[in-house]
Amino acid sequence: MMQPPTPFAERVKPIGFYPLPTGPSDGSAAAEVAPPERRGPSLLYLHIPFCKQRCAFCFFFDNLYRPPEWRTFFGALLRDMELTASLPSARAAVIEAIFIGGGSPNVLSEDEIGILLQTLRTRFVLAPGCEVTLEWYPGDQSKGKLSAALAAGVTRLSFGIQSFDADRSRRLRLRHTPHQSRQIIEIARAVGFTNINIDLITCLPGETPGELLAELRAADSFRAGSVSPNPLEVIPETPLEALSARTGGALSAIDRLTHIVLTRETLLDLGYIQQRFHNYHLPGKQHRYNRLSAMPWMNLIGVGPGAYGLVDGQVYVNHKDLVEYRNAVDAGRWPRLLGNVVPTSETKRSHVVTSLLEMTLSSDLYAAAFGTSLEDDFGEVIASQCARGLLDATPDGLFRLTPLGSLWGDNVCLEYFSAAQAALLGIRFADGESARYGYHYAPAAAAPGAKLTSRG
Ligand code: SF4
Repeated sequence: MMQPPTPFAERVKPIGFYPLPTGPSDGSAAAEVAPPERRGPSLLYLHIPFCKQRCAFCFFFDNLYRPPEWRTFFGALLRDMELTASLPSARAAVIEAIFIGGGSPNVLSEDEIGILLQTLRTRFVLAPGCEVTLEWYPGDQSKGKLSAALAAGVTRLSFGIQSFDADRSRRLRLRHTPHQSRQIIEIARAVGFTNINIDLITCLPGETPGELLAELRAADSFRAGSVSPNPLEVIPETPLEALSARTGGALSAIDRLTHIVLTRETLLDLGYIQQRFHNYHLPGKQHRYNRLSAMPWMNLIGVGPGAYGLVDGQVYVNHKDLVEYRNAVDAGRWPRLLGNVVPTSETKRSHVVTSLLEMTLSSDLYAAAFGTSLEDDFGEVIASQCARGLLDATPDGLFRLTPLGSLWGDNVCLEYFSAAQAALLGIRFADGESARYGYHYAPAAAAPGAKLTSRG
């Protein structure tokens, strides 16, 4: 295989949300519901920041599950749902897709799964056919809990499989086995789930093309719904960083790109459709939550510690520290750590960035939503990206990422960032401070004295 071209000097950090809050929250929420022309689809994200183990590569780990802390937290989470549901914008929302992530929601008991989903249905209005995704750690093989999830309305599961291979699992220091990974998919199917995402980690140190292909074929053998082959990021302060420092041998930048190209070509050949840079689905199994997040004036109602929200022109991040979080909801306050009003100029950029995360940008949709033309607002960047082979223009007013654009997708998106948002992202992935806080990063100066993480 030919080596892919490198249109950027270096790879930037993977992009999650746009925009991030720029400063501490004043504790208020949007007082009024936006007018109809400024209301897109409504989504809900619910964050469960507990795991029963810490996986070596992971920077989403927050708290080790211990029953007393968990019980206190679960009560606070239900109160947060109640508080959030009382917001005018939440009362006006018809939720079209929900994502319950973490951490790992498999810490929930069978009863708690039922209570959580019932509370969601009681407090919020869910659209008919609302997609509900639940993240699940494959080492938890409870058929009873997965049956409870299906009965409670979960429609899609996402398993952090990472590898089906024993040697790769050992190199990643996974705590679950390939046998458990295969088994949990079979259990979920036997229970009745028909839409399952398989998370994989690719681009391991020393990975050969043959090894990568075997991994992709193993995932495809289930034809489960979607495959998310995420290139390994060795994150500062994770156990894997210490291991990597000892073993060395990270995949070179060019081999990494070559393996991402091979991944794409293989999955497309196997009949998958690329939805995001590292997400592929079978026909009819698109991740609706992600797709809707790219719609103009989208509302994302975030619930739980560290959750991100963007509702009626206000962006926020909740307290990640469990004590701060619980104190706020116990006192009847929204547990906001950071938050601010988002100017329309940033809402436009948000739509462009999230559309490109989903591979396609529409001139017509943009004009209808914002009353100005995409070409007037971003014509220079778009023309430059078309000239560099990163975007293709179609006759019907769409701009699509080319294979090269998809390979460098985060860099492509970054060119639409405002200077303030670029500064918040932490451009270099090797920037330990920004990497540590991930999507929830904000400079310490933005929130004096605030504790951004329970590990902090
Ligand atoms: S990979 Fe999942 S289960 Fe493992 S530490 Fe990270 S969030 Fe928790």
